[in-house]
Amino acid sequence: MANAYLNGEFLPIEECKISVLDRGFIFGDAIYELIPVYNSKPFYLSAHLKRLNRSLEQTKITNPHSEDQWINIIQQLIDKSGLQQLSVYIQISRGVAPRDHAFPVNVMPTVFAMTNPWPSVSEDMYTQGLSAVTVDDMRWDRCDIKVTSLLANVMKKQQAIEHGAHEAILVRDGKVLEGSATNVFIVKNEKVSTAPKDHLILPGITRDVVVELLSELNIPLTESAITQQELNNADEVWITSSTKECVPVTRVDDQAIGTGKPGELWARVFAAYQQRKN
Ligand code: PMP
Repeated sequence: MANAYLNGEFLPIEECKISVLDRGFIFGDAIYELIPVYNSKPFYLSAHLKRLNRSLEQTKITNPHSEDQWINIIQQLIDKSGLQQLSVYIQISRGVAPRDHAFPVNVMPTVFAMTNPWPSVSEDMYTQGLSAVTVDDMRWDRCDIKVTSLLANVMKKQQAIEHGAHEAILVRDGKVLEGSATNVFIVKNEKVSTAPKDHLILPGITRDVVVELLSELNIPLTESAITQQELNNADEVWITSSTKECVPVTRVDDQAIGTGKPGELWARVFAAYQQRKN
């Protein structure tokens, strides 16, 4: 069963071959997108395609497909995967060219996509919550573009793992921005806060879904800077992403958050999120 797509062809991932001169490989000169699929239906697809388009615009990589073509490729990948709950990963690099920093001319972007089964979620994540550590954000200052050059994120996530934690929460100039692969929400006195959408965070689609659900649930939200102290003293902390959805964090920097158990507001948002998937 084909679970991948490369430059116009659907094929098994083992048969996908690209040149070592691909600029995605040489420079990390590529952008990506990940779309969750529930019951064979892509979740918030137009928001993902809009962000994909923006990542291409911002990096000046030519968008090789129209929106309809993207929808068609994604639908075919879903159909060919034989799965109902899955993720579709899409990566577009600037293409293959002799190694030179300057953009090559007349080069076609490389388009690669793959499907993966939905990761089985350990129930502990919901009953116990996850743990996180705060770390210095050492990334560049265009974190709003979904680029494949993720070395800083990879190193920070590894730092968290080596500390025995699940996620690294990135702090820059005393401000809590986001996780290594997630957005961060905190709750204090039943009010929710998350970092504003600017150039220092990835505008997460799951973040937007949670913002929408909070409004529907009449739970107050502020999108403004969060200090490290506010994070450490929060009643609840949540992290969001397309693969994790919305998960409670019950330990930060080896200290319990609130009661040390997943919070009540998280449970309400999580329930609303599960409903939205149907
Ligand atoms: N921030 C970062 C740095 C990420 O890598 C991700 C996941 N790609 C997110 C936030 C969450 O984004 P989304 O909800 O669109 O998956």
